Amino acid sequence: MINVTVWHEYRHEKIHKEVSDVYPQGMHSAIAEGLRANDHGGEFTIRTATLDEPEHGLTDEVLNSTDVLIWWGHLAHHEVSDAIVDKVVKRVWQGMGLVVLHSGHFSKPFKRLMGTGCDLKWRESEREIERLWLVAPAHPIASGLPEMIQLEREEMYGEHFDIPAPDELVFVSWFEGGEVFRSGCTWQRGNGRIFYFRPGHETFPTYFNPQVRHVISNGVRWAAPVNTPQPKRGHHPVPLQKLN
Ligand code: ZN
Repeated sequence: MINVTVWHEYRHEKIHKEVSDVYPQGMHSAIAEGLRANDHGGEFTIRTATLDEPEHGLTDEVLNSTDVLIWWGHLAHHEVSDAIVDKVVKRVWQGMGLVVLHSGHFSKPFKRLMGTGCDLKWRESEREIERLWLVAPAHPIASGLPEMIQLEREEMYGEHFDIPAPDELVFVSWFEGGEVFRSGCTWQRGNGRIFYFRPGHETFPTYFNPQVRHVISNGVRWAAPVNTPQPKRGHHPVPLQKLN
């Protein structure tokens, strides 16, 4: 059983009709629905949380019972309280998985965990094709996927993407304009696993795409906590058995 919390700032849908036309229930609902569509045998318990809820919906009770947190933000990164960001980062160090989507590259938790600027180049066109090439076919996130996923309309994100070198690079994107981008990246921080997945611009129906939903579901399974002890840190006396 994996307890998943889908966090969404949920602002575009409230102020931009072109976004609410695509996601009338909000992007978080479409992402949650995609997890349910890929839930084989009741492995996911899914809830959603949004910025305007008290504590952004991320109370201690919610965070402490979340195995994997999915994060989508764009307009309001700066409105996310630093106290909540501290708690999210600490939970990742303890083992909570974090799946960061699209413009979440500039979110406070992601930037904090990466320690770099996380900037990139971008272009929003009416119509631009993205091809995501699978470059780690043996990776668990690749399970059941074709070697290339084509999205007919997406925003372009281009290199250089200012991130630390990923532990594993799972997807590389090509865009019709010629740019490339590291669009599926993984890292470990403390006991936690982080997966960044690029697609998901708010004006396009990307989170209804079955292959995108499949990737996110694989990412959640991969990022779920491993049953491992919390490392003991600080002063460490010589173990007694070594003295005898
Ligand atoms: Zn975007």
